[in-house]
Amino acid sequence: MIVRDLTDEARRLTLLRFGRTIQLYAPLYLSNECIDICKYCGFSLENKITRKTLSVEEVLSEANYLTSQGFKHLLLVSGEHPRLVSPGYLKEIATKLKPRLASLSIEVAPFREEEYRELISAGVDGVVIYQETYNQKRYEEVHLAGPKKNYSRRLEAPEAAARAGMRRIGMGILVGLSEWKDDLEALIQHVRCMKKKFWQTEFTVSLPRLRPCAGNYEISSPVSDEQFLKMICALRIALPDVGILLSTRESPQLRDRLIGVGVTQMSAGSRTEPGGYLKPEESEGQFEIEDMRTPAEVAAAIMAHGYEPVWKDWENIL
Ligand code: SF4
Repeated sequence: MIVRDLTDEARRLTLLRFGRTIQLYAPLYLSNECIDICKYCGFSLENKITRKTLSVEEVLSEANYLTSQGFKHLLLVSGEHPRLVSPGYLKEIATKLKPRLASLSIEVAPFREEEYRELISAGVDGVVIYQETYNQKRYEEVHLAGPKKNYSRRLEAPEAAARAGMRRIGMGILVGLSEWKDDLEALIQHVRCMKKKFWQTEFTVSLPRLRPCAGNYEISSPVSDEQFLKMICALRIALPDVGILLSTRESPQLRDRLIGVGVTQMSAGSRTEPGGYLKPEESEGQFEIEDMRTPAEVAAAIMAHGYEPVWKDWENIL
């Protein structure tokens, strides 16, 4: 299939399954402390950056700021530090935050099934666990120390959340770590397998592209914008009913171009430092942001493309 046909088919399927809508969400970074050494990440233990973990009150202040911008879907993000960012800490935050939100997801260290059950009862309804790369040799080359170094543990992590009954699970690869065609194929197979096994769970996928960060990791398999577009189209055609997320790692031009092609959810106005919405000078972020537009500007761009920005698409009324 040539690229134009690929794009048309991806656009057709996206329109059919999701309509002319793009849901907006925001990441809320809780902590940049991490016990792992991952060569590509600004939060890696060996990087000399200013570290910070937000208090529950600070998290609530950041969330207040985000809800005042219109967000109802938040993603709590942190490095892997199960003692500082523990299930107990997350439960306290979820209990206080969830009543004001449509959905609350976490992208933190993988937990055990029973811990996920507790988090669900506190209000967490989504978990994001990216495999980064399915190439085991490459995986071991870039994950040097810490629990994340264990490839199989990572591979099996989404299942614990699914078994616990998590409503939504996000999966993905870190684009640029390894040969993209192999990784994309493996991701598609993994998602299909999970969908078959856990048919009541909703799955989303994301393809974060490697960005410059502290540690100056050299991107080993760079992917161009055209290749990235192809990846999104291939993903949509292979997994027609799976939501595709797009972060502010990408440029405004590319993000606008991808509206309707396959992407169904976008973050906007993101900061990757813990406390970065209100006090960005107090700590350091995970990577550089490319789309610096405000949430309102991103919403306006979505509308200019004939799509509706959705701030709230779901409410648990049971
Ligand atoms: S990728 Fe995750 S686990 Fe690895 S250093 Fe970064 S925050 Fe820590």
